Amino acid sequence: MNKRGHVLNAILLAIGVGFVLEPAADLETARTIIEISVPIVLGALFPDVDTAFGRHRKTLHNLPVLVVVFAYPFVFGNLQYVWIGVLSHYVLDVIGSKRGIALFYPLEREFGLPAGVTTSSDYADLVTVIITGVELAVFWGLNTALSGVEFDVLRFVRGLGL
Ligand SMILES: [Zn+2]
Repeated sequence: MNKRGHVLNAILLAIGVGFVLEPAADLETARTIIEISVPIVLGALFPDVDTAFGRHRKTLHNLPVLVVVFAYPFVFGNLQYVWIGVLSHYVLDVIGSKRGIALFYPLEREFGLPAGVTTSSDYADLVTVIITGVELAVFWGLNTALSGVEFDVLRFVRGLGL
């Protein structure tokens, strides 16, 4: 997938995630979309930095990098939402070309699909939009499931008298 596809995906993703987090379609929804759009777009652009530093589709296209970016908000209190862009970049690269990505780098093996919709295809944008829709459905599902879990954890902690 090229930069255009990654940015299109990230912007649509930010709008969708904004509505998942703040479904009321009010000022808070708009504020959330603005808050998360830049981090998600930056996250979606980040993996291809390995075209200049490291080896493309390996050095910054793997699960250890995703774990580090995901952990940042918990450890340092910054880089919130960047992981969404990074993860979505991986998904688009796996689906958007026949070549895969080295998910377990430094292991060399690249994981991908046997077929792909290349960036030169007339359907590239359509496929990007469809993939974004599927990602949003998954995010909505996870968000719904995890908010319940969070509540239970809180109740458990309160139950301990902490
Ligand atoms: Zn890439």
